[in-house]
Amino acid sequence: MIVTAHIDEVRANRWQDGTESWGLVPTMGYLHEGHLSLVRRAHAENDRVAVSIYVNPIQFAPTEDLSNYPRDLERDLALLEKETVDLVFTPSDAVMYPAGFQTAVTVAEVAKPLEGASRPTHFQGVATIVAKLFNIVQPSRAYFGQKDAQQAIVLRQMVRDLNFNLALIVCPIVREPDGLALSSRNKYLSPDERKAALVLSRALKQAQTAFDSGERDAQKIRQAMIELITAEPLARLDYVSVADSETLIELDVIKRKTLFSMAVFIGQTRLIDNMMVETSPV
Ligand code: AMP
Repeated sequence: MIVTAHIDEVRANRWQDGTESWGLVPTMGYLHEGHLSLVRRAHAENDRVAVSIYVNPIQFAPTEDLSNYPRDLERDLALLEKETVDLVFTPSDAVMYPAGFQTAVTVAEVAKPLEGASRPTHFQGVATIVAKLFNIVQPSRAYFGQKDAQQAIVLRQMVRDLNFNLALIVCPIVREPDGLALSSRNKYLSPDERKAALVLSRALKQAQTAFDSGERDAQKIRQAMIELITAEPLARLDYVSVADSETLIELDVIKRKTLFSMAVFIGQTRLIDNMMVETSPV
């Protein structure tokens, strides 16, 4: 497994044999089974697999958790070695944003609501770093998690608009046995907060049950989710959304493919979760 912080070395390896397909899994490290599920899928579908580990400063607002974002490169590399990853790209800030850097990628409409409303500079940071990683690695396929549903939608739009020559593949959310979606940020939770964090997946389960029993009034489902979350003393609601899965516009009536999503502070830790539902054609 090659581990490098240098763009030239990534390119030299990537193009050693131009006939090989490459899968790229961009991450911020502190890897868990969610990340590894993307690596395994990349393995199954490509000749070679590259993983990037980089905590991208420009996708964090000044008030967010950049400086104490969890990091453990040694452990991450051991996990990736076990998965027989070919190349790990671990750039420094100086490599990604050298002095004089002044370009950004902005996706307009789908980056505005939900995470974009709560974190106004976030998706510009994400789109910029992912565009750079796509240009550095030039993967055949790039793998992202449904856990960050809006991120996948924003990046799909960027790939389409900027003609990136790759397939963007979105993989299912990996959860703990009790329903909590895996996240590097779960490490911040105290034992009491860890219990309280189940309120996110419970709210989604409740919405799924309502949907399965025929409820199509989006506001009713939204309201029930809000009530469940606000009843948890350690939880502070950021948003709950029932939106069209492509445009992310809030719905009155659930008609087609719909994204149920939320962001909730558990203590100081901001967690997100979501599920996609589809109405069967009539
Ligand atoms: P991060 O390191 O948090 O930036 O995540 C890197 C990639 O892993 C992103 O595409 C995430 O959507 C994905 N990911 C994070 N958590 C999960 C999870 N629980 N299940 C599936 N994919 C995930």
